[in-house]
Amino acid sequence: MNTTPAIAIHGGAGTVSAAALDAGAALAYHEALRGIVQAGQALLLRGASALDAVCLAVEMLEDCPLFNAGHGAVFTHAATHELDAAVMNGADLRAGAVACVSHIRRPVRAARAVLEDGAHVLLAGAGAEAFARERALEMVEPSHFSTEARRLQLERALAAGRVALDHDGTANNATTPLDEGQKFGTVGAVALDLHGHLAAATSTGGMTNKRVGRVGDSPLIGAGTYADDESAAVSCTGSGEMFIRAAAAYDVCARMRYAGQSLEQATHAVVMQSLPRIGGNGGLIAVDRHGNICLPFNTEGMYRGHARGTELPQTAIYR
Ligand code: ASP
Repeated sequence: MNTTPAIAIHGGAGTVSAAALDAGAALAYHEALRGIVQAGQALLLRGASALDAVCLAVEMLEDCPLFNAGHGAVFTHAATHELDAAVMNGADLRAGAVACVSHIRRPVRAARAVLEDGAHVLLAGAGAEAFARERALEMVEPSHFSTEARRLQLERALAAGRVALDHDGTANNATTPLDEGQKFGTVGAVALDLHGHLAAATSTGGMTNKRVGRVGDSPLIGAGTYADDESAAVSCTGSGEMFIRAAAAYDVCARMRYAGQSLEQATHAVVMQSLPRIGGNGGLIAVDRHGNICLPFNTEGMYRGHARGTELPQTAIYR
């Protein structure tokens, strides 16, 4: 018997900006999220794997300039880009990830290639890029990822001496629903397919003004990304160091398996209790094998969308 498929995506969590009251500013985000959920949903309804659906959704998010993975990724302290991505298949716990890459156009494809190759789970820097070239993945100059908005954001972060910016939306001349200066730019997707299998994928430029060589939670299996058919598929966004320390994505699955918690109880405990206890800001998206979807965040907003079966996709930005 077929399972009813489900998919959820996120485009980062953050603080509501001064433009939040402008419905027009939000429209483009809702439309982009809806289109991406629909594409993943259509693939799942045709019987494709959850793994294919999450990779497609994350690729589309990487390519969409509204979100900050891929094109539009944030700058490091040295005004360079270092991208991280991961993907995990819940049926057999295969996983692949890349970290600190700056020439791979779609890092999630490289993560998928690492997964398919199977020899390793995480490749970083020049080695990851050599692997991507071997696999004939599309390579670009690092300037492909740069945008003027991100450069200004770096300048503000340098001036303030911060890694994650911490200023109000008005100072930022905000024109986006979530304050770009305080938004975590990661994108991600989780899915349950017709065959009852789960998968998760996450891709990011990391955090503005991060030290060169810094790796966040997104490409770390168990921290920012995890999927296990026995429990759930999870993709996180937020202050990566805390998500790593909390083993956030794995903790959701562990709570379900060992403590018998529901998806809702487990995701709520991680996002509303464990992470805030150590100063962790952000959120996550998760789906379990029954098709339950939870999208909790402890910030003011998180770009998100989801769909179950043939239902129309739902999208949201604020609480
Ligand atoms: N979690 C990501 C990181 O720390 C940032 C984000 O969610 O945007 O690299």
